[in-house]
Amino acid sequence: MQVLTGIAVSPGIAVGRAVSIETRTGEIYRFALAEGDVEAEVARLHDAVLHAQQELLRIRDKAGAQLGSELAAIFDAHVLLLRDPGFLGRIEERIRSKRVNAEWAVQKTAAELDERFARIGDEYLRERSEDLTDVSRHILRSLQGIAHHELSEIGEDVVVVADDLTPADAVRLGRERVVGFVMETGGRTSHTAIIARSLHRAAVAGVEGISQLNLDEVPIVVDGERGEVILHPTAEALERYGRRRDELDREEQELLATAGLEARTRDGVAVALMANVDLPEELPEVAAFGSCGIGLYRSEFLYIEKSPALPTEEEHVELYRRLVEAAAPEPAIIRTYDLGGRKLARELMATHEDNPVLGLRGIRLTLSRPDIFKTQLRALLRAALHGDLRILLPLVSTVGEVRSFRLLLDRVMEELEREGVPFRRDVPLGVMIEVPAAALTADLLAREVDFFSIGTNDLIQYALAVDRNNEHVADLYQPLHPAILRMLRFVLDSARTAGVEVSLCGEMAADARCAPLLLGLGLRRLSMSPRAIPEVKNRIRGLVAGELAELAERCLGLTTQAEVQELVDAVLAAGAPAVPPVRRRATTAEEKDDAYEAANPPSRKALGL
Ligand code: PEP
Ligand code: MG
Repeated sequence: MQVLTGIAVSPGIAVGRAVSIETRTGEIYRFALAEGDVEAEVARLHDAVLHAQQELLRIRDKAGAQLGSELAAIFDAHVLLLRDPGFLGRIEERIRSKRVNAEWAVQKTAAELDERFARIGDEYLRERSEDLTDVSRHILRSLQGIAHHELSEIGEDVVVVADDLTPADAVRLGRERVVGFVMETGGRTSHTAIIARSLHRAAVAGVEGISQLNLDEVPIVVDGERGEVILHPTAEALERYGRRRDELDREEQELLATAGLEARTRDGVAVALMANVDLPEELPEVAAFGSCGIGLYRSEFLYIEKSPALPTEEEHVELYRRLVEAAAPEPAIIRTYDLGGRKLARELMATHEDNPVLGLRGIRLTLSRPDIFKTQLRALLRAALHGDLRILLPLVSTVGEVRSFRLLLDRVMEELEREGVPFRRDVPLGVMIEVPAAALTADLLAREVDFFSIGTNDLIQYALAVDRNNEHVADLYQPLHPAILRMLRFVLDSARTAGVEVSLCGEMAADARCAPLLLGLGLRRLSMSPRAIPEVKNRIRGLVAGELAELAERCLGLTTQAEVQELVDAVLAAGAPAVPPVRRRATTAEEKDDAYEAANPPSRKALGL
């Protein structure tokens, strides 16, 4: 048995067999060839194509047997493309004329054709361009000697071990027979981790070198609580993890039973705990975990799911109607699509970007493609007739972006009016506060919008210059860093002065250890994954809101995250969770003493507050 450690990013215990998936083709460099080496390089290309072809045929046969001939036909199309002289001939020609290595020639040719397809704008051709990318990837893998797995090859109870997974990979794999994820890259607030939590798949990130271990078929346990990965578990370990899994199931049932309790502090201050929703399968959880409406729907996942096609207006309307109904009578806050960065839907991503997280993403991307964005806006205005729908804009960094958006919205309304399509005119508009520029100009933005939603996941990343997806700097990703607390205070003060409603929808909201501070800063709306609600609620029911403003003030005077956490933890330890985590009734005298102490915390004076 071997235990590897990483970062715990999605709770739960997964037991299964490993399947290694290599998602990166590795860096591709250009090499100049000597004239005498050119034909050998062309021969190497042909070998790789032959190998890729055999691999595709093998996958096709397997897919045909398991999933039917219709799916298998996709692979036939890929095999045909592999043999297509228009494609292969171009690659060969490039190797010969430019005297470059095969990898470079494949990549360049594929990119060139892809760009041409994209310019045509025809949906059918766009899909062919997707095939082209897949096929190029197969050839590149063969050239680089990387093994390849298709989903159709994956059996029951599989743990995917990958160098890296995009959020789209996680959606696709998580919905299948995959019970857990282990990745080399990533952090707790990466979108891939968020999706693993949405789909209730245990996940550990940042396990260095795991994709090099050739773990295919190896029995594996993913401990998403402790951030551990156990290879070749012993029978005793398997039994222990089995017991822990049962325990977690029981705990969840107990938490579900608290759904009807109010999120109210001991001195009667109500806090709205709302749901973050990424995927439609989470909708039943909105009510089941006692959410107070939907505080964030990440609409980009609709695009990712439909890719390479774009969602139609009717598909948008239908989904938004379901969201509004799930949230009723509370609001459903729908964020316009926040693609870019690592969340990609190919048909929307125009060009290659060296630094996409600082590039054309969020509101920047949507405003650059009004033709596509208008479909979503029409749907939002129409769906708003079904209930309290609110529109939220992602990654805003200037007031100008809000104004441009309003101009576009006006145009869309005129269009709907002209067509006689019923819609709602006065839909509340909010912005995400997730870029330092937005946080520090919150007073200016507050004049333009109806509400703010603070996205700490990105705010921390951009303010601290720490990639939320990079395991090497995960320690520096500090939600309680003084810079973040100062920004939060400024945003909340600005919102209060302007009378603008504020919620916080980053992962910080789901961390019960942050609750006293967030309430102390003045937040009364927190939005999180529905499953996180019971624990946060439990904490809130043990707090006295009247004491927390002073706590926040003291935290703002501290120097490090560690000092802040220590002070907040002291308050939490003193608070009495209204639904004690002690799951049995106190029976022994000692347990009764503990319960008494929990219900009668020491005074703030005793804590030096
Ligand atoms: C955030 O940045 O905090 C946020 C909620 O948005 P996302 O996680 O989708 O980037
Ligand atoms: Mg964000």
